[in-house]
Amino acid sequence: MSSVGQNIQIIQDRLAGAARAGGFSPPPQIIAVSKTQSADNIRAALEAGHRIFGENRVQEAQAHWSGLRDAYPDLQLHLIGPLQTNKVRDAVKLFDVVHTLDREKLALALRDEMKKQGRVLPCFVQVNLGAEPQKAGVSQMALKDFVSFCREDCRLIVTGLMCIPPVNDPSAPYFIELKNLARGLGLRHLSMGMSGDYETAAAHGATHVRIGSAIFGPRL
Ligand SMILES: *Cc1c(COP(=O)(O)O)cnc(C)c1O
Repeated sequence: MSSVGQNIQIIQDRLAGAARAGGFSPPPQIIAVSKTQSADNIRAALEAGHRIFGENRVQEAQAHWSGLRDAYPDLQLHLIGPLQTNKVRDAVKLFDVVHTLDREKLALALRDEMKKQGRVLPCFVQVNLGAEPQKAGVSQMALKDFVSFCREDCRLIVTGLMCIPPVNDPSAPYFIELKNLARGLGLRHLSMGMSGDYETAAAHGATHVRIGSAIFGPRL
């Protein structure tokens, strides 16, 4: 098996152990983050049987995946990076899930475009838990109103919450906070945990972990 395939296997085992230890079942789904990766690396993951991938730019995702869609009908593509409203049309066409819903203008654009294309993409609302000015995401204070705007006014399928904790802080308190926020809003899914902290995320109830370098090696 390729090293990419082996890495996915190792991560799956670790996620299973961490989720079990935290009392969570099933373990989180692995979103293999293929941004900046080579076609060879992507192919290795596909050949290992992996089908769930994440990208953070619409254009790069099109380059990576447009030609592979037909060959892999069970592919699931997750948009994990910021989405500009002028890219919404292409995003709705290509992706299956959005993890970065974070403002009303985007919610409205997604609503209109999904209706136009007859597609339904479940969305995670991104929360800026560290209140970092440079980071995307809804503030904790605005979250409740924003989620009801998305659900009730826009009729979007809000499936869960997503966060990216501040790089220099331990992740666990943020993961616990995200889980509590989701529970309070009746949201089931939690997109949290990356290469450095996916076991912590699994131990705190993540349902989706977004993992790039631990699968593919360092980004180009
Ligand atoms: C790049 C990226 C990841 C994956 O990062 P790694 O540390 O390589 O696992 C996860 N989430 C988001 C939002 C990203 O942009």
